[in-house]
Amino acid sequence: MSSDGRERIEELANCRLPTAHGDFRLSIWQASKGVEIVTVGMGKLAGNNPLFVRVHSQCFTSEVLGSLRCDCRPQLDSALEKIGGLQRGLLIYLQQEGRGIGLTNKIRAYALQDGGADTLEANHLLGFEDDLRDFTDAGRLLLQEGIPSIRLNTNNPRKIQALVDCGVEIAEVIPSLSPPNPHNSRYLETKALRMGHLFSPSGELPAHPRAESTHKGE
Ligand SMILES: [Zn+2]
Repeated sequence: MSSDGRERIEELANCRLPTAHGDFRLSIWQASKGVEIVTVGMGKLAGNNPLFVRVHSQCFTSEVLGSLRCDCRPQLDSALEKIGGLQRGLLIYLQQEGRGIGLTNKIRAYALQDGGADTLEANHLLGFEDDLRDFTDAGRLLLQEGIPSIRLNTNNPRKIQALVDCGVEIAEVIPSLSPPNPHNSRYLETKALRMGHLFSPSGELPAHPRAESTHKGE
């Protein structure tokens, strides 16, 4: 039992994971709702020196098939490259495909987008809210593993707030910007304009208040 009275997130297995970006340690955790969490870490993780962290949600179409409809694979790759360069950091990989609606509904949403809807309109037409993802287990895992303060690699203000709400200190926000392509530019613009994400077509940071470091309590 952890200090907040909730069950510990149990580690089920771990192994060494050599990759193009260096030697990582891969762990599998049993989180709530019966879903497994994957972490890929390098270096000493616990401690008060803020850890570079990306909390990344699964995207089968981009990460496995190389789809250009979104920017998930470049974001994942750049996070692992960054950790490899720093020789310290953690990727928390959550199995919540399609902002939490699952693969089948995500493909239904893509079909609606093929007909002209944007990514949010498509979700709404299917009866879903903007974003069903839950980052609570990621926050709990960080605290449980002695990682109270992080440098979070994200463009998503909702993810920042979710981790702050868990009690994790966000010492710095490091945007994850990749050049748009003709297939994902509308998707990226929708995330920026309607979901508050950090993004600009030039790949430079927009003038956006969330681009500044966010500290707990501010
Ligand atoms: Zn994606």
